[in-house]
This record gives sequence, C-alpha cells and structure tokens, in this order.
Amino acid sequence: MSEERKFICVSCPLGCGLTVTLDDAGEVLKVEGNTCARGESYARSEVKDPRRVFASTVRVKGGKLPVCPIRSKTPAPKGKLSEIARAVAELEVNAPVKIGQVLIHNVCGSDVDIVASRDLAAV
Ligand code: SF4
Repeated sequence: MSEERKFICVSCPLGCGLTVTLDDAGEVLKVEGNTCARGESYARSEVKDPRRVFASTVRVKGGKLPVCPIRSKTPAPKGKLSEIARAVAELEVNAPVKIGQVLIHNVCGSDVDIVASRDLAAV
C-alpha cells in the first residue's frame, strides 16, 4: 500500500504544492505538483534527508557589537537543528570577525560549518 505526503516547495517564491507517493519501503514512486526539476529534488530531499539553513547570532567578546549574525554554510539536517542551536548558544567568539569565517567546524557532527554572516570589527 502506498503513502502520500504533501509538501510546499520552498525552492522559489512560487511555492508549488507537491504530492509525493511512497511505496511500502518508503521509496519515492512519484512526485506531482512540481513545475520544474528543482521541485522534484526538493520533494525527494524532504522525504529522505530534510535540511534547513540554520541562522542565529553568537556572542562576541571585544567587538563593536555584542553579537554577530551567523548561519550554516550549507543546509543542516533538520533533526539536528535543536542540538546546533544549543551549541551556537554556548559559543562566544573574539572580535574581529570576518564574513564567512568558520566559527564552528562540523557542528554537532553534522558535516556542516557555522560561519559568520557579516564582518564585525574589534573596539
Ligand atoms: S517546483 Fe519549481 S517552480 Fe515550483 S516552487 Fe519549486 S522551484 Fe519553484
């Protein structure tokens, strides 16, 4: 017996409604509702390995501002986002910070790096 799952594609602002049909083993049989190939890739990823870009701020010591915006360099596994949020909350970095600077390598064993989203000068 097959199973249907519904998603909204977030790969572009059109937001197509996707319907994914899975077989008993959880394998994707078909994707419907997408109007381009990116939608099919998104749907397959949502079923097998859902990921999100993580964004937050970290505390900065000795900087012109007390916090610096950060993000995951690549989308992180959805199931690890809470753990990643805790790791980032515990972090304090020293100024200066450069945009793109890796602040946590392989955060929580996810193979994803946390990087600075802006430059932040020291005082
Ligand atoms: S399926 Fe294609 S057109 Fe539709 S939301 Fe996704 S990326 Fe955009």
